[in-house]
Amino acid sequence: MSDQDNQHSAQNEPKTLKEALEREEAEKAEALSSDVETTIFEGVRTENGDPVVPVKMDLEDLFNFRCHKGVSCWNECCHGADITLTPYDILKLAEHFKVRPAQFVASYAVPAFHEGSNLPIAKLVMTGKEGKGPCVFMNEKEGCTVYNARPATCRYYPLGLGAMKFKGHKAREDMHFLVREDHCKGHAEENLQSVVAYRREQGVEAYDLLNERWVDILMKMASWRSMGGPGGKDVPKQTKQMFYMICTDIDRFRSFVFDTRFLDTYEIDDDMIESLKFNDETLLQLGFDWMLTIMFNEQRLVMKEKVLQQSIVKARDDMGISGE
Ligand code: SF4
Ligand code: SF4
Repeated sequence: MSDQDNQHSAQNEPKTLKEALEREEAEKAEALSSDVETTIFEGVRTENGDPVVPVKMDLEDLFNFRCHKGVSCWNECCHGADITLTPYDILKLAEHFKVRPAQFVASYAVPAFHEGSNLPIAKLVMTGKEGKGPCVFMNEKEGCTVYNARPATCRYYPLGLGAMKFKGHKAREDMHFLVREDHCKGHAEENLQSVVAYRREQGVEAYDLLNERWVDILMKMASWRSMGGPGGKDVPKQTKQMFYMICTDIDRFRSFVFDTRFLDTYEIDDDMIESLKFNDETLLQLGFDWMLTIMFNEQRLVMKEKVLQQSIVKARDDMGISGE
């Protein structure tokens, strides 16, 4: 870099905290207003090296596919599969096994990082060497033993789910893509259907609804990350740990909400507080609203006036500004 360049970049550096904060907000806004595309879960289910080119599909687009016990590839896709567990998958599977979510995760999931956002997610354990064996829930004769509670990725297959955000658009747009893996003979079965009909048949709509804010966080963080994060940094480790806790251990998050100053900090009405005591789905949504608030300053949760004033006083003290 030349002296002139150095001088130029130094001139662009913020001189005050206010300027630095404004710069960070502007970077965040720019990141969130760029075109970004991220995969939420893959349509690819095996790791056998099939060359697969996913094809983007609109909701009304048609594709030919049927899976049933009579296909020669029965259960092949349930070996060495790469299955992301969404937060709602974890609640439903835990309910299926009549255990609490943390117990389910300890037995059947491993932590990983979502590629686009670098946020922690849970993946379903596969058996065998290097996870190339059958899914823990697969029975050679009967197929999936948790069929009614199977994860969203399994419901979607052979479709994958991604999210896009176009420049200038506030909301994200979900997109589907079709994956044709050589081993999957379901594509040769005669059964023409639209993406929307397939989604309905597979029961993914309820999953999408409950996972919506989780997808939103992954999408926004992927956008934000494409800009290198605030000042080129990743999200703090504690925020990632909290995000993973909300997704995988709702009871621990409940203790956090009720046993810390959380309820003294945010405006949450009494009916909602009652519901949070026993309703895991409501608590999950609160957790994601909180994450959207602290990660992206979205004001999904409003701070109590008293706490806000105390924070302002503390910030002023930290900056050495007198109360006079
Ligand atoms: S959960 Fe069921 S459908 Fe999904 S990979 Fe395992 S056995 Fe297959
Ligand atoms: S048709 Fe495809 S989805 Fe069905 S069992 Fe075979 S590989 Fe799996």
